[in-house]
Amino acid sequence: MTEKDRHKPETLSEKPGGSTPPVINPTYSGKYRKDDTGVLIKGVLSGDTGLLSRAITLIESNRPIHREQARELIHAVLPHSGNSIRVGITGVPGVGKSTFIDALGQLLTEKGHKVAVLAVDPSSGITGGSILGDKTRMTALSRNPNVYIRPSASGNNPGGVHRKTRETILLCEAAGFDVVLIETVGVGQSETAVHAMTDFFLLLKLAGAGDELQGIKRGIIEMADAIVIHKADGDNIHAAQTAQRIFSNALQLFPPKPGGWKVPVLLASSTGNTGIDEVWKAIEDYLALSGESGAFEEKRIRQDTYWFHETLDNGILSEFYNNPLVKKEIQNIQQQIKDRHITPYEAAGKLLSEWKKGLYDGGPEKRKKSNP
Ligand code: GDP
Repeated sequence: MTEKDRHKPETLSEKPGGSTPPVINPTYSGKYRKDDTGVLIKGVLSGDTGLLSRAITLIESNRPIHREQARELIHAVLPHSGNSIRVGITGVPGVGKSTFIDALGQLLTEKGHKVAVLAVDPSSGITGGSILGDKTRMTALSRNPNVYIRPSASGNNPGGVHRKTRETILLCEAAGFDVVLIETVGVGQSETAVHAMTDFFLLLKLAGAGDELQGIKRGIIEMADAIVIHKADGDNIHAAQTAQRIFSNALQLFPPKPGGWKVPVLLASSTGNTGIDEVWKAIEDYLALSGESGAFEEKRIRQDTYWFHETLDNGILSEFYNNPLVKKEIQNIQQQIKDRHITPYEAAGKLLSEWKKGLYDGGPEKRKKSNP
């Protein structure tokens, strides 16, 4: 394999996963013919949601021929993307995310916005479900013609799921959706990923019995641009107000956000339809402030840089660990470490220096043979 081949973009976009079924015939193009790209581009740009869905299905495909076509598609829509407000919404299951999105989405369309709703759920490939897949609860939105709901991309390979979601955002923007709501469950790395692909990150919390701050990861509070104490209705109002005070006090201990943004703690009830307006107002205030200070643009640039490095890191790791000769050598070396013939540092240094010398460049044919 040549140096150029080893850096082909395909290898940069996916982490080793094992979730992708083997390609039996890599030249089989499946549902989409090569010449459909133009139709998809035009369809997306004209806001045709049927073709938008087909375009998203294409970028979600792992088949090499589709990846090539998807790159063409993304390249064509890129100049028409970027002009939405990207809002991440997180919180534990049951906190009321889908009900909240239903209410917020409804409010936004009343204000004249076109709203796309996406989800990031890297676990869906493992559980077989998806957080938006069975969202019969988003009843109002699913009937709203100015809303597009897309179930989460599947796969237990987070690198792949994140790439698909980021490209889906671009497609939705090019199709004219000016608000993109991205839901994620508060599990694993998905929150960090959604935070890194959105302009505003909203944390939904439930009021408890004074133990609000216990068991909350510090990281998630640091990521939040606003905290919403949700289900602030009925008997819950008093507890919600207490939680609001506790969070507001706790937030004072955190470092200030770029551009001087002060993270608000808001109360809302989606079933009672109270506080939703205030949440949107906070987002608009944030956009005005961060737009003025330049923090908005800086954040987007930082995010692009982050995803570039993240994708590169994944590609390099995948290239290294998927090399059959490396796999074999790692096994040997582990045995040597166990037998105390070599220290872990010496071992890692040896492996890396051999890699740099090209000792594991067996070429594709040789690789196949050594890893049948
Ligand atoms: P998710 O798992 O975070 O998406 O939560 P859901 O939106 O599915 O809501 C979980 C449960 O909370 C459902 O039974 C909802 O009816 C209920 N719920 C959602 N929002 C509210 C609210 O504002 N107030 C009250 N009291 N219940 C709510």
